[in-house]
Amino acid sequence: MTALDSPAAATSAATVPGRGYSPEDRARALVEALPYIQRFRGAIVVVKMGGNAMGDDESARTFAEDIVMLRSVGLKPVVVHGGGPQIDDLLRRLGKTSQFHNGLRVTDAETLEVARMVLVGKVGRDIVGQINVHGAYAVGLSGEDGNLITAEVRQPELGYVGEITKVNPGIILRLLAEDMIPVISSIGSTDGGQALNINADTVAGAVGGALGAEKVIYLTNVPGLLTDVNDPSTLVARVTLAELDAAIAEGTISGGMVPKVASCMEAVRAGAVSAHMLDGRIPHVLLLELFTDAGIGTMVVAGHPGSAVVADRPGSAVVADHPDSEDSTTPGGN
Ligand code: ADP
Ligand code: MG
Repeated sequence: MTALDSPAAATSAATVPGRGYSPEDRARALVEALPYIQRFRGAIVVVKMGGNAMGDDESARTFAEDIVMLRSVGLKPVVVHGGGPQIDDLLRRLGKTSQFHNGLRVTDAETLEVARMVLVGKVGRDIVGQINVHGAYAVGLSGEDGNLITAEVRQPELGYVGEITKVNPGIILRLLAEDMIPVISSIGSTDGGQALNINADTVAGAVGGALGAEKVIYLTNVPGLLTDVNDPSTLVARVTLAELDAAIAEGTISGGMVPKVASCMEAVRAGAVSAHMLDGRIPHVLLLELFTDAGIGTMVVAGHPGSAVVADRPGSAVVADHPDSEDSTTPGGN
């Protein structure tokens, strides 16, 4: 699927040879984007690219195109990336065997060094490079730069793994003011200057909160939040903070979804209108989510009266008729 796909494309008589889209379909897709572009103009959108969703060169290219498209139509994208599989890969190539504590990998000094090299020196560089094919937009930085992310050791048994204690978004705001696209690697630093590895979802939620982001979007390798992790048809399209609390208590959320869901909740509590978990393997999934009527993945909203819940789609649902939407004012000014 691409942003220009439409159900009518396959059957339209007047298709462009070799491309499959009629001129009408192309125009319709652009016009469909108009209210979203108007609505999101100037909005900060934090996009977390998961290490698992970063596949081949083609998906890296379409991701970069989407990010550049967001900036080009007036949004302020901020990229946060992970890189678990890429770190594992280098550890394996180095012949490093990890220690585990209660099933969680212990990040010893050597593992931290590898994680920092891979995230800051490889994965971040690759994303910056792909974006900058389109112009001088992206600037890569680690949470250590400009004291962006201060952290402390979360649990001594797990080694150099950080829990965020403070986000200083000054450096990001300065880059955004210069129309740059910050690309953040999920390494933080203690007050004493010790680097720590931090879950990238947690970084995205905290950075989104500190920036007052309109949306925080997590690109991962599943369609979104599933009630049965083995069955993609159990996708939860929309979920409130209270419903997520219940799901966490029931134990249907596990593994990498735990920090992701917690970060979605943090971002929404901090004032984001919504947080989204999307399948980053779908080409141009960001454009589909932001600029089309297609509801895709899982949308997390506050969901209580007086909260930021509004119809996410311009022109959709009469707000006052929706039981969750008594209050149509949103912090994002929409
Ligand atoms: P990322 O690199 O995107 O952070 P993670 O592996 O950390 O990816 O987190 C996503 C993984 O969480 C999924 O691949 C899936 O195996 C797991 N997961 C656990 N519970 C759920 C759930 N309820 N719904 C969806 N995914 C889940
Ligand atoms: Mg993860």
